[in-house]
Amino acid sequence: MNIATPTKIQYEAIIGLETHCQLSTHTKIFCGCSTAFGTPPNTNICPVCMGMPGVLPVLNQTVLEYAVKAGLALNCHISLFSKFDRKQYFYPDLPKNYQISQYDLPIAENGWLEIELVDESGLNPVQKRVGITRLHMEEDAGKLVHAGSDRLAGSSYSLVDYNRTGVPLIEIVSEPDIRSGKEAAEYAQELQRIIRYLGVGDGNMQEGSLRCDVNISVRPIGQQKFGTKVEIKNMNSFSAIQRAIDYEIERQIQSIETNIPVIQETRLWDESNQCTMSMRRKEGSSDYRYFPEPDLTPIELSSGQLKNWQGDLPELPAQKRHRYVSSFGLSAYDARVLTEDRPMAEYFESVIAAGANPKQSANWIMGDITAHLKTTKQSISQLSINPSDLAELIHLIEANTISSKIAKEILPELLVHGGSPQSLIDQKGLTQISDTGLLMAAIDKVLTANPQELEQYRQGKTKLLGFFVGQVMKQTGGRADPKLTNQLLMHKLTD
Ligand SMILES: [Zn+2]
Repeated sequence: MNIATPTKIQYEAIIGLETHCQLSTHTKIFCGCSTAFGTPPNTNICPVCMGMPGVLPVLNQTVLEYAVKAGLALNCHISLFSKFDRKQYFYPDLPKNYQISQYDLPIAENGWLEIELVDESGLNPVQKRVGITRLHMEEDAGKLVHAGSDRLAGSSYSLVDYNRTGVPLIEIVSEPDIRSGKEAAEYAQELQRIIRYLGVGDGNMQEGSLRCDVNISVRPIGQQKFGTKVEIKNMNSFSAIQRAIDYEIERQIQSIETNIPVIQETRLWDESNQCTMSMRRKEGSSDYRYFPEPDLTPIELSSGQLKNWQGDLPELPAQKRHRYVSSFGLSAYDARVLTEDRPMAEYFESVIAAGANPKQSANWIMGDITAHLKTTKQSISQLSINPSDLAELIHLIEANTISSKIAKEILPELLVHGGSPQSLIDQKGLTQISDTGLLMAAIDKVLTANPQELEQYRQGKTKLLGFFVGQVMKQTGGRADPKLTNQLLMHKLTD
């Protein structure tokens, strides 16, 4: 008789991200107010961004340029004809009571972004494409500060700062191609890299310049129908995105398994309790009653302008990662670290352009130089040692002019004062000794000074070779060519 054992149902998560990214223009999207962060509340405002009657918005052309460049970098189709729409929403953070956004004719659509996933060993990177549904321009809302309650007046109150009202945003909507918290965090991180490489935004999550909302549902593997979609907001780091999604996947699976329906709603990530909490039922798009913005003319782009902007695009992080592996023979891990930010990648490429070996250059930059930048809290562009000097240092080691030990010894001085490594070693008399006569003299001295060790070596304690090499190094102030010293010593000891 067969006893049926219940098999555990396997689930999959269907995840899409909506990312708001602030563009780093000096002025707002429809007026000349400053976009500076951290200025006193309500000082960067004017009748246009305050939505006074009778004022007219004018599109900041740099916003259009930045949005198009972001769209191109995300492999999107750019619409030569698009328009703005009004999204009705009544909330004190937008004094107009509507937001100017783009509805049915966004500036960019149908693109993709490549993410790279590395398994736990740090090896075997896997690339995956995540589709981009659309990218559109819109204005940001103000910032509400819930100040608490005034017990004497018997009321609670909130304050509002309109400095952020009208700051330009792009909203990037992904296809539901993401399957895990890790993939989502990687997607958001790659978006941040692209935005920074392009120079169209600072992508700073803590200051809210990059904000991700997650749409997530769960279904048994093999089922066609999607599960009920939940939106999660309020995550301000990549690891919070990952943890919020992993938590939500578990919560939804448990709901399904205990026959409690998953409700379509918006949930907030609670960082202190590491869980998501229900915030409100989700509105459908019909609640916003979009209609074409009557105060702005449609946006028309010429193909010539589009071509110019395309020509301005830098090499992007994913392209660089591939090139570093295929042309420079670096590991996927090294390529990832070096392309993390554009100035680092450009520094590395300049070192190679000055003729240095790519793997050696990568090691110096990821090792000693990164450590120095961390302790001094400097950025790579502030570094005193310029790329050609680092290339020279690497050359000096390869040519056996100095040992890598000496290179490490003079590096701190080069990091602080810069200058040519060759002149520094000349000045300090640190050139490696590769002269056989000089080395033999040092070896003889060492052997004479250590008769006991010499006797032990001759009786078979060959491990003492290292001891003798060390003594020769000491004798020569670290300048002896280690390889040659080894050879000469072996020769001498087996005499
Ligand atoms: Zn203004």
